[in-house]
Amino acid sequence: MTHPSSIESSSDYLCRFPFEKAEILANGDVHLCCAGWLPQVVGSVRDQSIAEVWNSPIANSIREKIGRGDFSSCRAELCPHLTSLQSGEPPAAWSPLKRRDLHLQAGHQRDLLQTSEFPREINCAFDATCNLSCPSCRPETVAYAAHSAEARWADRLVDEILDVLAKSPTQIQRLKLSGNGDPFASRAYRRLLRSLDAKTHPDLRITLHTNALLLTPERWAEIRAAHAMIDTVEVSIDAATSSTYRKLRRGGEFSQLMPRLAWLAKLRQGRSFRRFILSFVVQRENFREMAAFVDLGRQHQADVILFSQLNDWGSMSPEAFAAAAIHRPTHPEHAEFRALIESSSWRHASDVWLSNLPRASTH
Ligand code: SF4
Repeated sequence: MTHPSSIESSSDYLCRFPFEKAEILANGDVHLCCAGWLPQVVGSVRDQSIAEVWNSPIANSIREKIGRGDFSSCRAELCPHLTSLQSGEPPAAWSPLKRRDLHLQAGHQRDLLQTSEFPREINCAFDATCNLSCPSCRPETVAYAAHSAEARWADRLVDEILDVLAKSPTQIQRLKLSGNGDPFASRAYRRLLRSLDAKTHPDLRITLHTNALLLTPERWAEIRAAHAMIDTVEVSIDAATSSTYRKLRRGGEFSQLMPRLAWLAKLRQGRSFRRFILSFVVQRENFREMAAFVDLGRQHQADVILFSQLNDWGSMSPEAFAAAAIHRPTHPEHAEFRALIESSSWRHASDVWLSNLPRASTH
């Protein structure tokens, strides 16, 4: 297997995300991937419909570049798929990066580069409502009041998604809830989940990204008709002890999380969904708990124990972010962090993904 010498330009690979995926943020901005990884905004759904923004000239120009292997619009140091590739690791099964020659052989090239009229995958990040206020994400709790302008606007987007699904049941193939906030704290997302029925949309798949504290058996029962669509549940935790959890999941309690994890593990074992991910954003406050987090994930039979670097979402002061960003080589404790990973027994384990964390190249 060959790997690109410069990740910014490799005609060996292409990425399917800009051809299939839209992320819609709370301010209306739309991105063709995770906003942190592909920062260029392709339009705003405050002014236009999702379909109009999706087919905008700027969206098509990004696709044209990435379709020919030019990744200069992507932040290679943040995109976990480019980071993995740059470290010499073959793309994971779930990676959107595809080798162009394999796709040519498989005859998939045309499909992959063909853009549909509406995104096939939507990362819903348009309702910021959450039960927690994690310091890496926001300085205080956000909850859209019923009938507020923000709530009405989130409802308008949910209506547009439901409308597309009603008119064209196979158009959207995946919904991710939520890329911002929590799906079970948001009225709009709960309404969306309650409106979905696996019998009507057998091809639609749902990823739930949640802190799980509000994901009770009662809330799960509320969305019974959607159960068969939910194939992935990712729980963001960032801690392996209750004191760290209290600091990094402000407003949450580890003692409340543990029964939720045990219950979700049972659902996973009973094949209620296919992929159970426990995630951990690594920062100064928690990096010494990484090994314990791997143990926690294994105790709950997680399919993926996901580590990623701290992203600067503008919620921390520059000084606070610099103090927390252990992944930066300039951080005073960075060498200890690197040594901890390099000496670990789990760094290459099949259930652990270091995503965009720095590690020694395996070239
Ligand atoms: S290469 Fe990474 S950042 Fe670029 S579009 Fe694909 S997933 Fe997004």
